[in-house]
Amino acid sequence: MSKKIAVIGAGIAGLTCAYELQKAGHIVTVYEARSQVGGRMASREKDGFLFDIGADHLCNLYDEMKKYCTEFGIEWEPMRFLKYGITVDGKIFSPNDVLSPLSKFRLALQYFLIRNVGDFFNLNELAPHDNGDAYSFMRRRTGKQVADYFVDAFTAVYQFHRADEISTGALLGIMKSISHNKKGWDLHRTQGGMQALPNAFASRLDVRLNHEVQSVESGSQVIVDGDAYDLAVIASQATHTKWFYKNPTQKQKEILDSARYASTISVAFRVDRTKLKDTSVVWVPYVENQKISGYVNESMKGEEMIRDGKSLVCVWLHEEFAKTLLELDDEKVFEAVKKEFIEVCPWFSQEKEIENFDLERWIEAMPKFYPGSLKKAKAFIEGEGQGEQNIFLCGDYLNSPWTEGALRCGQRVAQQVMKKTSS
Ligand SMILES: Cc1cc2nc3c(=O)[nH]c(=O)nc-3n(C[C@H](O)[C@H](O)[C@H](O)COP(=O)(O)OP(=O)(O)OC[C@H]3O[C@@H](n4cnc5c(N)ncnc54)[C@H](O)[C@@H]3O)c2cc1C
Repeated sequence: MSKKIAVIGAGIAGLTCAYELQKAGHIVTVYEARSQVGGRMASREKDGFLFDIGADHLCNLYDEMKKYCTEFGIEWEPMRFLKYGITVDGKIFSPNDVLSPLSKFRLALQYFLIRNVGDFFNLNELAPHDNGDAYSFMRRRTGKQVADYFVDAFTAVYQFHRADEISTGALLGIMKSISHNKKGWDLHRTQGGMQALPNAFASRLDVRLNHEVQSVESGSQVIVDGDAYDLAVIASQATHTKWFYKNPTQKQKEILDSARYASTISVAFRVDRTKLKDTSVVWVPYVENQKISGYVNESMKGEEMIRDGKSLVCVWLHEEFAKTLLELDDEKVFEAVKKEFIEVCPWFSQEKEIENFDLERWIEAMPKFYPGSLKKAKAFIEGEGQGEQNIFLCGDYLNSPWTEGALRCGQRVAQQVMKKTSS
């Protein structure tokens, strides 16, 4: 039977869930605090450029996302070039040139040994390996060089925190995916930027923008800011959910309390296109620089990202550095980041070659899949907490990393809702 359902949060998790529920015949209303949909998967147009303010690139192994792109007629394009770089002593090296032959051998052995673990985008499958932290695990198995220049650097660039705060289970999932499907990690984009897919979902849904939900009360009916629903899917960041969800059950409260996030700031600079070399993403290991975690050459996205001979470079920050800047005004943030960036990017020798363009602060940039958290989230998702009092929680913090994980979480929660409403 058709139910009246509220979805709170129009990030990719909430939008996917809302779309699937509407397709199944339910009457769905989506509430979004911001003036645009997408959450951390969004873009902003400025001076003819599309600045992807959060997530920056997609991988060819994002199979579920690709299905929606096909359905909505959104073009899924490969990036122009796909080289990665790692910073050592202020210079950029290819990953292959950073490790000694012994480190390479030990790393190759690890790749061989982890053939049968689960899928990174559903960390529930990796909960059996949630037995410690990725840094210590790899330091023991492969030595300090691999731990610092691969594991810690990868965690920094994509999670903005250190590898001792990520579970071995998550690391094994990534390693398995890379070893089984290397081409799947080729970087892609959707034409129209990160905003394209969230917009396509939203155009098919009833979305109330600029509506920051103040209160959700669960029960036989769910009351969202005074309006009654049969049930609600709360797809906002856990820290926000804790603030407006007034009467969570014990299990819901525990899972919300257990979520931790790393902060960052996406800082975009406008630069001369000819200065940018054909490296797509540069990882900056923490042992090399404790402030910048990595940077992305936006000209890899094609002509759309080149205007009057200029393009953008997007810089991400380690969480501790980001936290010192979050409260400062934009000019001060640009100034502090530029000073550090020049130390780790050999493409520029003077700050005057780098023009301030735009920035976005993210207090909750990335959930930390810390040791022990995978098991906790799995127990919640598969146990009684999910759906209690007609409330379903949804989002990347529930063992569902990155845009593809969050999207799949939306699908999974829609299935759970449908199971409950049909029983
Ligand atoms: C800087 C950065 C770079 C990243 N790079 C990549 C990348 O390259 N590739 C990749 O795949 N992933 C990347 N990610 C991760 C990816 O963006 C996220 O994992 C994913 O988008 C999370 O989606 P979500 O729907 O779970 O959460 P969100 O996108 O955070 O959605 C939650 C929504 O809830 C809304 N909300 C909150 N409170 C309320 C309220 N009270 N009322 C109404 N609405 C509310 C928020 O405004 C938001 O729109 C990156 C993230 C960041 C921050």
